[in-house]
Amino acid sequence: MPLHNTQQIKIHNTLSGKKEVFKPITEGHIGMYVCGPTVYSNVHLGNLRTFMSFDMIFRYFLHLGYKVRYVRNITDAGHLENDSDVGEDKITKKARLEEIEPMEIVQRYTVDFHNVLKIFNFLPPSIEPTATGHIIEQIELIQSIIDNGFAYVVNGSVYFDVHKYNTTNEYGILSKRKLEDLIHNTRALDGQSDKKNPQDFALWKKAEPTHIMRWPSPWSDGFPGWHLECTAMSTKYLGDFFDIHGGGMDLKFPHHECEIAQNQAAKGKAPVKYWMHANMLELNGARMSKSTGNYINPAELLSGDNDKMSKAYSPMVIRFFMMQASYKSVLDLTDAGLKAAEKGFNRLMDAIGLIGHLKLSTASTFNVAEWQQKCYDAMNDDFNTPILIAHLFDAAKYINQVKDGSATVTTEDLDLLKDTIHNFTYSVLGLTNTLETDSNTEKLSGAVEILIKLRKEARINKDFALSDKIRDELAEVGIQLNDSREGTTFSIN
Ligand code: AMP
Ligand code: ZN
Repeated sequence: MPLHNTQQIKIHNTLSGKKEVFKPITEGHIGMYVCGPTVYSNVHLGNLRTFMSFDMIFRYFLHLGYKVRYVRNITDAGHLENDSDVGEDKITKKARLEEIEPMEIVQRYTVDFHNVLKIFNFLPPSIEPTATGHIIEQIELIQSIIDNGFAYVVNGSVYFDVHKYNTTNEYGILSKRKLEDLIHNTRALDGQSDKKNPQDFALWKKAEPTHIMRWPSPWSDGFPGWHLECTAMSTKYLGDFFDIHGGGMDLKFPHHECEIAQNQAAKGKAPVKYWMHANMLELNGARMSKSTGNYINPAELLSGDNDKMSKAYSPMVIRFFMMQASYKSVLDLTDAGLKAAEKGFNRLMDAIGLIGHLKLSTASTFNVAEWQQKCYDAMNDDFNTPILIAHLFDAAKYINQVKDGSATVTTEDLDLLKDTIHNFTYSVLGLTNTLETDSNTEKLSGAVEILIKLRKEARINKDFALSDKIRDELAEVGIQLNDSREGTTFSIN
């Protein structure tokens, strides 16, 4: 029986503002969509935190035995400066400044994004669709919204008619905003004169002659509005009504509000059962932002090459630091916080390392089964990772007590403890044991040294066919042998 049959998860649903019992639309299956990065610059730690929260959630669902289709998109067109309807496309702007093709920008920063996620031990999503790969779907969606009377065409651009929509639907249902308040608070911006009302948003924009990223459509050569891609891609892969939609808190309005409106207008139904929003990462007490310089990117934090922190931190310490806060709380990245996380992470890893070296007894002085359920209860309570980590520390304390003889454990309990601590630390929190990785690297080096010795012997015996075979086959698996007068060394590509 899959674990999800015995564990009941509660999720804070932004739509209702309440913690709700999670019941997937189809028993045993989960469809989850998370807004991915706009690939116009290196991923920053704030972005990373949001994606890490959903990676942990994805991991827990998998651990419980759910079949999960996790879709996280890549925004490679349509996202304009200041998240608005006017201005330059973020990617085109970067391409112009660097005098390269927009798709070179997309390629460069998509590769960077994937590299960073790999360093932090993310699981890949099931599907990673791009906005430019789904232009036809977006055009079809716009056509449906026009046909249903919720959008209008002006000078080759198409706008969503928020006022019309709000007569029969509730614009603001997710962000808890009222259209009347929005009307009072909106200033008419230059360049928005095509719109009937400033609250309307673009579904399709006619491209200026200088705009490079453009596609033909029934209305003009142009490009889709930013909110549209997520409606097109989420429903294409997950259906018109799916389980979970996530993203950073800052996307609740207007991005996600507009997604709901688009789906309602095109298909007559709300797209999502549970809306989840991850909170922001701050740096030394202020919002992390490139424009104010209060900003640090993953590479700088990993290398220690920055003026914000006293030293370098490893990816797993950073991951552990982020997991020590609930995904729903604001988290402040500080040197002191990272140092404390480093200590905690090492303490946990040291305890896990002791598990195989404990003396067994006929009775246990700690209720392991009860502790295991507490770990599940923490995760079931809206993915409460700080409480889970507190329980993992309780287990670490117990392991240390068994080690020093002040507590005892049975074989059975030790097996359960080991499985549980491994499952939660590695599979759910996504941590890796850096000590183990180091020891595996040592073993690999040892094995390659043996092959280097065999190759040397082959050469002495003039068996050049064998010596070349060793070199070539190692190269094929990415291990390069470098011969010099001092001997042979190797590098791993
Ligand atoms: P973007 O690439 O700007 O479209 O953002 C990608 C994701 O990162 C979105 O889900 C944002 O909400 C999220 N995000 C942006 N800044 C932060 C931050 N400082 N803390 C946490 N998440 C963020
Ligand atoms: Zn989105």
